[in-house]
Amino acid sequence: MPHAEPPSQVPSGAVKAVNRADFRDHLSTADEQGRRKWLYPQQPRGRYYRARTWLAWLLLGVMFGGPLVKLNGNPLFMMNVIERKFSVLGVIFWPQDNLVFALGFLLFLTGIAVFTAAFGRLWCGWTCPQTVLMEMVFRKLEYLIEGDGPSQRAFERAPCSTGKLARKGAKHAIFLVLSFVIGNTLLAYIIGLDGLRQIVTDDPRRHLAGLAFMLLFTLVFYGLFARFREQACTFICPYGRLQSTLMDENTIVVAYDYKRGEKRGPLRRSEGIPQRSARGGGDCVDCFRCVSVCPTGIDIRNGTQMECVNCTACIDACDEVMDRIHHPRGLIRFASLDGIEKGERPRLTPRLAGYCAILLALAAGLAALLLTRSEVDITLLRAPGVLFSQAPDGKLSNLYLLKLTNKTRYDKPVELKLENVAGSLTVLGGQLNVPAEKQTEASVLVEIAPDNLASGNTPVVVGVYCAGKRIDRIKTVFIGPRKQPYPGGKSEIRRPKSEARREIRNPKAEIRRKSEIRNPKAEIAKFSGIGSALSTESTGDPVSRSDRTERGTGCGFRISDFGFPSDFGASDFGFPLPLRVLCG
Ligand code: SF4
Ligand code: SF4
Repeated sequence: MPHAEPPSQVPSGAVKAVNRADFRDHLSTADEQGRRKWLYPQQPRGRYYRARTWLAWLLLGVMFGGPLVKLNGNPLFMMNVIERKFSVLGVIFWPQDNLVFALGFLLFLTGIAVFTAAFGRLWCGWTCPQTVLMEMVFRKLEYLIEGDGPSQRAFERAPCSTGKLARKGAKHAIFLVLSFVIGNTLLAYIIGLDGLRQIVTDDPRRHLAGLAFMLLFTLVFYGLFARFREQACTFICPYGRLQSTLMDENTIVVAYDYKRGEKRGPLRRSEGIPQRSARGGGDCVDCFRCVSVCPTGIDIRNGTQMECVNCTACIDACDEVMDRIHHPRGLIRFASLDGIEKGERPRLTPRLAGYCAILLALAAGLAALLLTRSEVDITLLRAPGVLFSQAPDGKLSNLYLLKLTNKTRYDKPVELKLENVAGSLTVLGGQLNVPAEKQTEASVLVEIAPDNLASGNTPVVVGVYCAGKRIDRIKTVFIGPRKQPYPGGKSEIRRPKSEARREIRNPKAEIRRKSEIRNPKAEIAKFSGIGSALSTESTGDPVSRSDRTERGTGCGFRISDFGFPSDFGASDFGFPLPLRVLCG
């Protein structure tokens, strides 16, 4: 141990010696050399431990039953991030429900803040999966195999023997099997039970990633429950770190009533309660039962500490001692600092009231979102890389990609109609029927006569109908050619310099134009719409027949007129239609 200097003489930047007498200056699970001190907590007994055991059975049932039990044909709980499909109480949610997720997450965070401000880390000791599994499953198995805390300590110190090896081996084998079950349950939450079944029953070579995760989860849970244990609550869990910012003197926590307990000291058989009180002795008999049952190894009599997970084991232990010495229970109890110091009853502070108001507002928002949640979610996007094309009858067409999510438990036949423009809408592939709780995709072709279009982009509204009832309206745009933007007769190719300058000042337009030039199909499709205008306006300089043949266009334009390299031939376009349109 380094030489300890008084604080005033410690040079800045030097390592300060640990004051072992101050509980705040060191971890209860580290010795003088900083090595891990293994804990052997005694098994608690009492009303809180019994209540926790019952609650743990219920929570374990939900935890392991979540992906197994089906409600409405869906798992009770599932977070299938791969298929982006989430199930809560058998109701499927999709990424399109992002507002529900965002509000739900905010509600969860606010709920934690409210709960912690009111009741400290009660969640940690009673409902956190880490504590429930550690204290109610792994620890109980350990008690069963190796005995209570003191027996475990003695067993650990005993010389190596066949019996010791057998018991230790049995314990770790059981831990490993349990970790495998927990790891697989987590995997079932992520990929669904069917996905997990496939990994288990299918050819392993086809599921190497799934098997790797299975192994990884098993090892992580084994390491956590066999070795890491309470260190996860002390060092890893961010909620534990947050609690000091959320709690105040009104927060109800597991607390030692120092006013009643001090001055602590062993109980003398010859001494009655009046004599003990007369010499200033408190109710605490300094038996250390509360310390010996603590799964995080702290002494709650030092006050609220970051390691305390509010598991109430110390309350049960102290109550047992108080019963034995015929003192009232509750020397360690749920209480606030103000409650102990000033005898105040728990009250609603302005901070807590504010948290509750936010919580209620979020809950109301979430409820409204869930009640008004649409049955079918639709996105209609223009097909990438395609502007428009023109049919021989002159009609212009745009291609769209449609994505439909049926959030209900029934199949939904869906029909689409153009609402604001005269034209036709065709779903390629026929009638749309979206299976229950599934997503489907389709291509949609919209054809509109040029006369019904505005110049350039025309806003289009598509109505979505199910059983004759409109369930949604989607707004999109239909891209067509510009109609004579310059009354003076200048074409789009030979634009005034002022417009060119404007586009350069507008980087988005410039980038769009350049990307179109790099995309010959899109460029040709664009020109196909203005072909007739070009044939009369674009070439004040018609090329000779030989030049046409050389250039490969076969019509009265130089290929360079369209912004392509001069050696660009018809075969480079990959499809003949636009050339035919261009050349009339
Ligand atoms: S101090 Fe008490 S409540 Fe806190 S962790 Fe230890 S035993 Fe549990
Ligand atoms: S169990 Fe109660 S009496 Fe015993 S040391 Fe803890 S607080 Fe004191």
